Amino acid sequence: NNKISVSQIKEAVQQAYEQVKGDTGGNNANYIPYLANIDKNLFGISVCLLNGEKFNVGDYNYRFGIESVSKVPTAILILRQYGAKKVLDMIGADATGLPFNSIMAILLENDHPSTPLVNAGAISACSMVQPIGDSTKKWNAIVENITDLCNDAPQLIDELYKSESATNFNNRSIAWLLKNYNRIYDDPDMSLDLYTRQCSLGVTSEMLSVAAATIANSGTNPVSKKQVFAAELAPKITSMIASVGFYQHTGDWMYTSGIPAKTGVGGGVMGVFPGVLGISAFAPPLDNAGNSVKAQLAIKFIMNKLGLNVFNGE
Ligand code: GLN
Repeated sequence: NNKISVSQIKEAVQQAYEQVKGDTGGNNANYIPYLANIDKNLFGISVCLLNGEKFNVGDYNYRFGIESVSKVPTAILILRQYGAKKVLDMIGADATGLPFNSIMAILLENDHPSTPLVNAGAISACSMVQPIGDSTKKWNAIVENITDLCNDAPQLIDELYKSESATNFNNRSIAWLLKNYNRIYDDPDMSLDLYTRQCSLGVTSEMLSVAAATIANSGTNPVSKKQVFAAELAPKITSMIASVGFYQHTGDWMYTSGIPAKTGVGGGVMGVFPGVLGISAFAPPLDNAGNSVKAQLAIKFIMNKLGLNVFNGE
């Protein structure tokens, strides 16, 4: 992959933007007014190489709700705090094949929440964040970890947080079902609140591309050069992203794109190509699984154009 030149990447990003920007597929998330009302034409693409070089196009500076992409950094945080084996035992690393908010993620595995990258496992992960019992310090650890991964601080979108909190009945039931199965490791309501708050953090596609590049670069942020997590954890988090990053559409995604990626209903997608690059795209309209339509098209276009596919041994 050293064969890919900087000018090829620049060109692929620009072409993806031009090709995809007029696409009208999908609809904004509609379960809360904040997401429903975001300008559906916003569209940005960002790529970060492992030497820290960045390519941005469109609305790459727009702060959108990170939503479920936040499950990745918090999974990294508990991997850092507990190690790979404990996270596997306490939550799991399985694909669910189910929608992100399914309570079946808990019941499927006969009490395990399957993976920290769906709601059940993500709420469980928030409960595991240390120090147990101290919501302020837990929150600070979550935000600091995202800041280190992105080399930029995420900002809480208050209106988003308030609407999410007022309507998260399904997630409340997940938190208490986890409690029933002893898969919540702190106060259930506090753990749920941390999860809801982390989903409401505002980030840019540029920030997510740097976070993705940090994972692709084995835990060292390519821009700040700071080692955020141990290199041995990079393949663990990337395998989780590859197995469930698009929920019930993950297989189709991997088959057509060739890059492990994680989505959120705010319209963001973050893709990790180990040893090569981090990529992110953002556009609000979503498909029926809650994955951004334009972000998917853009990332697929760029991977295909550059001939990059993690499953291609050539
Ligand atoms: N806040 C949303 C939820 O938990 C996040 C969902 C998502 O991005 N898929 O319901």
